[in-house]
Amino acid sequence: MTGSRYTRQQLFVLRNHIPIDRVIEALDVHNAIHDGQYRFNCPMCHRMNTGISRKTNLARCFDCKKNYNTIDLVKEIMGLGFLESAAYLEKIKEQMSAETHQKYPPEKMTRQKDMVHIGDVFKSLASSSPEKASSSRALRQESQAISDLQKRVCDLEICIKSLSEKIAFLERR
Ligand SMILES: [Zn+2]
Repeated sequence: MTGSRYTRQQLFVLRNHIPIDRVIEALDVHNAIHDGQYRFNCPMCHRMNTGISRKTNLARCFDCKKNYNTIDLVKEIMGLGFLESAAYLEKIKEQMSAETHQKYPPEKMTRQKDMVHIGDVFKSLASSSPEKASSSRALRQESQAISDLQKRVCDLEICIKSLSEKIAFLERR
């Protein structure tokens, strides 16, 4: 992520679409399942009277009576500022996206033969304008636009994955 400002939408994704337990594990915080409940070591009191809510994507310490969202947790445990914490989460998000691509390569996700992977659409957009191709500036702008779009598609894929996980979790209850 370039620049030092995050949009509301970007922060929403970082807070809500990176599962809180995934953040706990990435931070190497001790965690365990007790009585069927996910617990983690509270960064304040270091006790395990804690829990997470997949619905709100918050971690809570019942002793400290404190909720942590993904950003709070990184700030507290890594001792980072807000922007650095957001950047840390951005990296986890990128990892998740890379895993999604490994697990569900585009050709496996397309059920119909005539479905085209969105990346190919961008590629064909880029190559289908010979008059523009003569101007390298236009080309650069175009490839920038394409990579922006690809980033947004990645974000959307993460949202979809996280929503599917939530739905699966709710259905199991
Ligand atoms: Zn605590």
